[in-house]
Amino acid sequence: MRDHEPLMRAVELGEVIPLLVLEESYFGGNDHSRAFPRQGGHPNLPPHRLQFFLDAVASLSSELEAMGSALVTVRGRATEVVPRLAHEWRADAVFAQAAVEPGSRRRDGNIAGALGEKFRLFGGETVHPPGSLRTLAGKPYGVFSPFAKSWRREVSDLPAVGLPSHLSRVPEDILKYVDPLPGLSDLGIDRNPALLTAGAVPAEARLRRFLRNAGSAYKADRDRMGIEGTSRLSADLKFGTIAPRRVWLEAKDAIGETAGGTTFENELIWREFSYSTLWDVPSIVTTPFQTDFMGFPWRDDEHGWVAWVDGLTGYPVVDASARQLRTEGYVHNRARMVSASFLTKDLMIDFRRGERHYLHYLTDGDLAQNTAGWQWTAGCGCDPQPYFRIFNPVTQGERFDPDGAYVRKWIPELCNMPSEYIHHPWDAPDALLRSAGVRLGETYPRPIVDHSFARDRFLETASQHLKRSPGSQSAPNRLQLD
Ligand SMILES: Cc1cc2nc3c(=O)[nH]c(=O)nc-3n(C[C@H](O)[C@H](O)[C@H](O)COP(=O)(O)OP(=O)(O)OC[C@H]3O[C@@H](n4cnc5c(N)ncnc54)[C@H](O)[C@@H]3O)c2cc1C
Repeated sequence: MRDHEPLMRAVELGEVIPLLVLEESYFGGNDHSRAFPRQGGHPNLPPHRLQFFLDAVASLSSELEAMGSALVTVRGRATEVVPRLAHEWRADAVFAQAAVEPGSRRRDGNIAGALGEKFRLFGGETVHPPGSLRTLAGKPYGVFSPFAKSWRREVSDLPAVGLPSHLSRVPEDILKYVDPLPGLSDLGIDRNPALLTAGAVPAEARLRRFLRNAGSAYKADRDRMGIEGTSRLSADLKFGTIAPRRVWLEAKDAIGETAGGTTFENELIWREFSYSTLWDVPSIVTTPFQTDFMGFPWRDDEHGWVAWVDGLTGYPVVDASARQLRTEGYVHNRARMVSASFLTKDLMIDFRRGERHYLHYLTDGDLAQNTAGWQWTAGCGCDPQPYFRIFNPVTQGERFDPDGAYVRKWIPELCNMPSEYIHHPWDAPDALLRSAGVRLGETYPRPIVDHSFARDRFLETASQHLKRSPGSQSAPNRLQLD
């Protein structure tokens, strides 16, 4: 945490009490006993996000102690706890960072209603406030390029915010309010050693490593699934262990003049675009941005769904991504696109089912980004890829994992396959399969569906559906905002 406007503004006024409300909903319950179950855990708790979150809070607590202060963690509902404590502690003001997700916006609104002018919200979850950029017609942007152009203009002179070097002590009688953080085992979650380490120090190290080693080659390397060509900052950006403004400014400074730097900046702006879209159109959390996709005849295919979740579809990149998700709580961006395309187009399973599965397991699982990513791939999002563009899981593998390193890492059954066949083992001669120790249908599945058949099925269904739909993508789109 090196950039925090609410804290910077608060110290200008005097003593500060850093408060974090441990909302029961984070832990899957509505009352304290359910929120902190002793045994068995809660089946809907996102294990990886909770591990990262709890570790990040513990690390924040140590940081604040090193600054002379302390983190006061209190369980309950923020809408009740914050106004009550502001009153009991006779606070002159309450400063917080504004949130973008619809539920969090309602929460902020309720607290503002209770505290009035005492409550002030500042930006920071994004570089530029979401919902503030408008087209000449005064509408939100619905297409990325003009949004990015306008966004870049707005942030051209962005100041760094920073952090105070020292904070006042938190009085003893206030420390009595502290509720301890639950441990992962209290929530029935096993620690996953494969996750990234949470906290401001590891986040800063990830930023440094990326800018020093990978940043300038990012344009070429970001799509290579088998190499560490990206920053791995997504969970830090989600949980605020690094501020997006800091990443933006540091990247501009270190690699801004390179092709990799420009591409990296664009990805950060895609993040801003997702947040802005969620701000302007909160209904995208449940319904397609492109309304002509409403009522789409998604298939009910339990067999296909289970194969996709378990990484047993017979398409190596799709299967590698499913296994990476559950093992590491992360999936390479290119593999996310291939895998989401396979679920929604080859299997024709509702994108919302995949979206929920990703949100459950991703450490960076984020409502704005995940919704945008799924809807973009399915063809029904804001500035989506056209519905008729369907990723071919074999050629995507050959192009973006040419030596098969990604597949070999996540599918040990295929580790001895020569690169020539690793993305389509079913085409390999029998002798070659034997020498690689692969028995199709036994050690590794045959494809659960033929890609060209599935492609034609999706195209036919989608074109029929969109023809009947009033906002058809073959006609100018009703919801196209710009
Ligand atoms: C189906 C699907 C689901 C996704 N779900 C999420 C999610 O829940 N949370 C999430 O943070 N990202 C999500 N993404 C976007 C992207 O895959 C991840 O942000 C990226 O893989 C994170 O790795 P990184 O930090 O190394 O990225 P880098 O390549 O280093 O990029 C730096 C930052 O830019 C942003 N970014 C990168 N790629 C994209 C993109 N395509 N769209 C929007 N912003 C991007 C992220 O904040 C990322 O941390 C999803 C994409 C798809 C296709």
